[in-house]
Amino acid sequence: MTENTHAPIIEFAGVTKRFGALTVLDDFNFSVARGEKVTLIGPSGSGKSTVLRILMTLEPFQEGRLTLAGMPYHEPNAGGPFKASDGHLRQIRSHVGMVFQSFNLFPHMTVLRNVVEAPLRVLGLPRGEAECRAVDLLAMVGLADKKDHYPAQLSGGQQQRVAIARALAMRPRVLLFDEPTSALDPQLVGEVLSVIRGLASEHDLTMLLVTHEMRFAREVSDRVCFFDKGRICEQGEPERIFSAPEQPRTREFLASVL
Ligand code: ADP
Ligand code: MG
Repeated sequence: MTENTHAPIIEFAGVTKRFGALTVLDDFNFSVARGEKVTLIGPSGSGKSTVLRILMTLEPFQEGRLTLAGMPYHEPNAGGPFKASDGHLRQIRSHVGMVFQSFNLFPHMTVLRNVVEAPLRVLGLPRGEAECRAVDLLAMVGLADKKDHYPAQLSGGQQQRVAIARALAMRPRVLLFDEPTSALDPQLVGEVLSVIRGLASEHDLTMLLVTHEMRFAREVSDRVCFFDKGRICEQGEPERIFSAPEQPRTREFLASVL
């Protein structure tokens, strides 16, 4: 694939997403540059998770065009205008990692196996290489000594750090975080944010983060987008959005969470 490195890595163009009669995204346009760190903020139910889930190929959409590094999500010959084969979706998904609010580790697998599984099965890495990579990543998130534990033996903060290592094991170009600290006890939030903060300093990694941690968003983002009713109502540099929001809806939202 020839790739234009100046083109956005993520591009939603006129995307419409419905759940039955409910239209969640209506002619949604949004793009993210390579290496950019973007935070989505906004009220519950406004469609933030839907944006991430579509990017992760967990949700189909009905209209418009979405590309990742120039690759369209749908295939013209897949049997319908917004359809794609499983193989095509797997190919796209191999470039995207996602960290969920609820960790979603495999409960019956050790920490090491959780991290090793996708590189072994999806990338077909030799076991030795996949395990080396996993051990390095577990060390990076501060959990080298927990590799033989099961998820239930770890705290929520530790589980979430394993989930981050697992997402990174695929060497994704884009990393998505959907409220990664919302399910954690307050005293465990810091350890997870500090791992994400470390990742945010990686120049080549593109990050799209949904969070209610406004101070953190201000610190790590290149751009903050205020999302309301399936649209980006206002966006800009974090300093500007947090200190001088222009839209009344943004001001109202920030007043309710800060
Ligand atoms: P947010 O993450 O901003 O809270 P979501 O993207 O989760 O918002 O949801 C946007 C809207 O889509 C909400 O009204 C939600 O109820 C609806 N929705 C999300 N997932 C589904 C689903 N699987 N089926 C039906 N409606 C859904
Ligand atoms: Mg959500």
